[in-house]
Amino acid sequence: MSTPPPEPLPFPESLCHRCAAPPRYVQTRTSTFIMCPLLPQKYAPQPVRACSLFVARPPSAEE
Ligand code: SF4
Repeated sequence: MSTPPPEPLPFPESLCHRCAAPPRYVQTRTSTFIMCPLLPQKYAPQPVRACSLFVARPPSAEE
């Protein structure tokens, strides 16, 4: 289950935003965290610029 991307996007240059994983956005009162469902540690250091698990999300899955 994913949550909709927040506005503004945290680390907009991150690969995670375009990933088919898909990431979940965990929001607190002051921050938004990008949680990866594939990584054992769940939270990759952001911004992710390269990831061996990245698979581009199909255009139809985008808004
Ligand atoms: S697989 Fe990699 S690029 Fe995709 S959401 Fe997880 S950390 Fe981000």
